[in-house]
Amino acid sequence: MATERTYIMVKPDGVARGLVGEIIKRFENKGFKLIAIKMLQADEALITKHYEEHIGKSFFPKIVKYILSGPVVGMVWQGKGVVAYGRVMLGKTDPLKSEPGTIRGDFGIDSGRNVVHGSDSVESAEREIKLWFPEGVVEYPRVIDSIIYEWLDGTPDNEDKKNDGEVSNTNETSDHPSKSTTTTTVQEEEKESSKPNKDHPSKLCCFPLRVKNKPRKQ
Ligand code: UDP
Ligand code: MG
Repeated sequence: MATERTYIMVKPDGVARGLVGEIIKRFENKGFKLIAIKMLQADEALITKHYEEHIGKSFFPKIVKYILSGPVVGMVWQGKGVVAYGRVMLGKTDPLKSEPGTIRGDFGIDSGRNVVHGSDSVESAEREIKLWFPEGVVEYPRVIDSIIYEWLDGTPDNEDKKNDGEVSNTNETSDHPSKSTTTTTVQEEEKESSKPNKDHPSKLCCFPLRVKNKPRKQ
């Protein structure tokens, strides 16, 4: 299974405008998998760490004030290509330069009220996930992945297998005290389940439908 992950955060304006469900819906509809979600009021230290690459830039004080202005909803989404495609779904930093159909294009006007954050690289994503979810994420098998992804013989393709290893290692480095042992166990089970066997989730699913047509009686 594809295990690339990204950090998506509905900013205070998005939360206040009731856009949380809309944003979740877009990622769910695409086929990405939600593996962590929480609402929180961030403090200045957390926001400063999150936006550390922007420290010293002219807009830095206003972005901190903006994110401090109300609760945010942080999420971790998983799937093949989720970092780059998540950014496509968000649109450009400036909502007025964003295509209609993107979140910022559809719901924003000013850069300083652009509704949503999304990691800009796999490395940033892993850093942000650790920052906002030190307790770890929830891994679970999803039967519909066998419909969403093009799997051969009930097993993920080679590229997905390679990604599996990379991200599992990153998870294992988390030393936060609240890191769930269940997470590791389920990940191990998931890895195990990617081997071709009769219990693999894709074997439990009826896609593609294989209905044998009975010859019609004349
Ligand atoms: N921002 C702003 N004015 C700018 C540049 C950025 O208000 O000229 C805000 C905007 O909300 C943006 C955030 O600062 O989302 C972080 O900037 P970044 O360049 O990382 O944009 P993003 O990755 O969010 O598209
Ligand atoms: Mg950015």
